[in-house]
Amino acid sequence: MAKQNKESRCSFCGSGKQDTLMLIEGLDAFICDKCVAQANQLLVQELGSKKSKGLDASVTLLKPLEIKQHIDQYVIGQDDAKKVLSVAVYNHYKRLSQKVNQEDEVEIEKSNIMLVGETGTGKTLLAKTIAKILHVPFCICDATVLTEAGYVGEDVESILTRLLQAADYDVASAERGIVYIDEVDKVARKSDNPSITRDVSGEGVQQALLKILEGTVVNVPPQGGRKHPDQKMIPVNTNNILFICGGAFDGIERKIANRLRTQAVGYKVKKDDEDLDLKNLYKYITPQDLKSFGLIPELIGRVPVLTHLNPLDKAALRNILTEPKNSLLRQYVKLFEFEGVKLIFEDDVLDFIVDKAMEYKLGARGLRSICEAIMLDAMFDIPSDPGVKELNITLDYAVEKFEKADFKKLKAA
Ligand code: ADP
Repeated sequence: MAKQNKESRCSFCGSGKQDTLMLIEGLDAFICDKCVAQANQLLVQELGSKKSKGLDASVTLLKPLEIKQHIDQYVIGQDDAKKVLSVAVYNHYKRLSQKVNQEDEVEIEKSNIMLVGETGTGKTLLAKTIAKILHVPFCICDATVLTEAGYVGEDVESILTRLLQAADYDVASAERGIVYIDEVDKVARKSDNPSITRDVSGEGVQQALLKILEGTVVNVPPQGGRKHPDQKMIPVNTNNILFICGGAFDGIERKIANRLRTQAVGYKVKKDDEDLDLKNLYKYITPQDLKSFGLIPELIGRVPVLTHLNPLDKAALRNILTEPKNSLLRQYVKLFEFEGVKLIFEDDVLDFIVDKAMEYKLGARGLRSICEAIMLDAMFDIPSDPGVKELNITLDYAVEKFEKADFKKLKAA
């Protein structure tokens, strides 16, 4: 009773309600979010090895080979990227456990990762899958919305807001999460000569990203957006957050080709040149190419693991339709199973879907729009038709439904 008359204050630090994000009420006391976080940190330190080892065990348990095997269940092909990612992620979490367990003189550096590959080849999927396997908080953010602090757009700290949200505002858990920064190529420097106007959405963002990627304590606005002075901030240490950057780097092939060509002149033997896989120049990418594309060297240095994704060919697209654990076709089969209907796709339908995706250069992302076009009528009619127990999708059916769909729309998808 007496409690209600008293002003609600944290019984540990004395902060008033207005100074905290949350004030938790106990029997005859209050505790604020900051003291809870601090107490939790103390607990981890005190119980030390026991608890934190437990935490790490769940993360570092998987060896690179096991990580790759897990990814294989969801992502088709892209073996190089999978291998590089598995090792980088394994080392990252090893580095984490080293920090918790001992103060060693050899400190392992952070291994942020750069994925370069055409759009729709599985960059986001790879990052997402890894986070799922490791059971760590994961968020995706788009570099195109970021601007240098003070300009219209989002400050780079908003990236961490997303991660905090993904971790349910559990700071300790967010601090060991994974962030996927998509379209990082869009923050490339706009032109080579430093111009008189500021490049607030290009180089400005790269500069702002440096600190976050490297590892520092960042004050994060809990609700995101732009920082303003009287907003409460949550300090987040980015030291153990793994950043995976991805981008299509449109046009970088030309830069790679140029570099390879200049190298080929002179002492280089012609044989090397003949061996080049001209259809997939991405696989020869080096940090130097990122620099000529417009990323600043400091940023490239903070994302030391660079790997590429291969363009998807017909065989890969066909596998994507059927192989992954949650492949598109399995998803449709499941959907129809809910209605008590057995759904069967005939083999030539799969070839048809893949051909159309290739023809319209829709990549893996287009597989879905094509399937939707074919399946829409069935998904509309079947729930109201309890008589149907089996649905066989034949080539004729698929072609008819596909042609009925507004094709230009698909192309734009
Ligand atoms: P990116 O980030 O490279 O633009 P995404 O990872 O978002 O592409 O891929 C888009 C969709 O295409 C994914 O949701 C997935 O269904 C499918 N996809 C792309 N590449 C693959 C792949 N290698 N294996 C399985 N599915 C893939």
